[in-house]
Amino acid sequence: MKEIRVRYAPSPTGYVHIGNLRTALYNYLFAKNAGGKFILRIEDTDQTRKVEGAVENIISVLKWAGLDYDEGPSKEGGCGPYYQSQRLEIYNEHVITLLEKKRAYYCFCTPERLTALREEQQKQKLPQTKYDKHCLHLTDEEVKRNIEAGMHYVIRLNVEPGQTIKFRDYVREDVEFQSDMIDDQILMKSDGFPTYHLANVVDDHLMGVSHVIRGEEWLPSTPKHVLLYEAFGWEKPVFAHLPLLLNPDRSKLSKRQGDVAVEDYRKKGYLKEALINFIALLGWTAGDDREFYYLDELIRSFSLERINKSGAVFDIEKLNWLNAEHLRAKPDDEILVMLKDELKVSKYSGNIPADDYLLKIIDAMKPRVSFVKEFITNCVYFYEDPEEYEEASVKKGWKPQSPEILKKFAEKISVFEKPLKEDYESALKGTAAEMSVGNGAVIHPLRLAVSGVSGGPGIFDICYILGKDRTISRIHRATEKLG
Ligand code: GLU
Repeated sequence: MKEIRVRYAPSPTGYVHIGNLRTALYNYLFAKNAGGKFILRIEDTDQTRKVEGAVENIISVLKWAGLDYDEGPSKEGGCGPYYQSQRLEIYNEHVITLLEKKRAYYCFCTPERLTALREEQQKQKLPQTKYDKHCLHLTDEEVKRNIEAGMHYVIRLNVEPGQTIKFRDYVREDVEFQSDMIDDQILMKSDGFPTYHLANVVDDHLMGVSHVIRGEEWLPSTPKHVLLYEAFGWEKPVFAHLPLLLNPDRSKLSKRQGDVAVEDYRKKGYLKEALINFIALLGWTAGDDREFYYLDELIRSFSLERINKSGAVFDIEKLNWLNAEHLRAKPDDEILVMLKDELKVSKYSGNIPADDYLLKIIDAMKPRVSFVKEFITNCVYFYEDPEEYEEASVKKGWKPQSPEILKKFAEKISVFEKPLKEDYESALKGTAAEMSVGNGAVIHPLRLAVSGVSGGPGIFDICYILGKDRTISRIHRATEKLG
């Protein structure tokens, strides 16, 4: 059996799109499931689109997500270099082979001629504009003369008209394109750099790529690649084109309707486990209702057969839900590290509470948060005294008798040296009984006094976490402020 080798082949043109991370993930999962190799190849032949720092960003996203590549930049396997810009000689040699086989030809047409040709074809309302093979018939002598005269040229693929190009795609099944619809693609540009098509096919072949797994937007390129494989006399890899990613309104996933860069989700505090889990389900299912997965479980379950044909809708609510699930599934000490990192960049950076205090917050708030930062923002009262008291709750829960009730409660807990949760509970019940009121008449004002808000963990948890002194002092502050 042929070795399974797949590649993620991004162009370093900016941020890493969610769709690119999905491509990388599916390739990774497929390779690891089959015991194969996952290659990272940087497709940087378009010098005009190169962005400073983009390669480093791609590598850092893969590292963050835990998608380690087996071969690629700084991890030389036997097929490097893994930057296309460092392989120009290889493409040159290969394009010469195609020229010799008459499967490619030199084209000296000027940009002016090409523009005029396109405008003429548009005027004639042709189904598509195409190069007219004007230079195909130049003799070897003419070509030589033109080159010697210093004329600019490109090298084009010679697409034979009237053919049906067929290939099998794992997702789309049998695919057919008519060669009449395919332009004589430029393979080598006048700057001596190859185009995507040539470099991609040559590298996939030389790197022993067995399966090409990529987004559906590359499907129209595939017949051109098939022609190139045939022209070289090489065996084609297996193709699998992944379904489009869609906005909830089923338009193509775009920046206008939300974030599309992986970096944005990272910055917003999404866990890598959640993002990977979520992205894995954008176009693939194990065939049951299961939605929560870790990366190693995805590796075990993944198969190309279960990739869907239809577009996958990006549902941010589901991502948020998965983030909460993955966060809750983490051990507290891991959350502690993340919480401290969050606190370091918050306004509490100069006054970060001790670990055992933070661990109590984590324990109480875990069922109530979806993001690490919510261990702060959803319960600021654990970090500072309330400055204000939620107006609607004051109206509802703060009664004329409340100060007296709370004072009694404060007296009762002051006798404990270090009250436990149950001590707060018995103090509360005792207060209610002595004052002949229901428990609610103690709980509501107490909650307001210690937290300033009406929601949150159980009141005994809050008091216990804050501790006796702070609970009592907050009761005094509230009775002063609210009267
Ligand atoms: N360089 C292309 C990209 O940016 C690679 C497409 C492919 O996988 O063939 O996605």
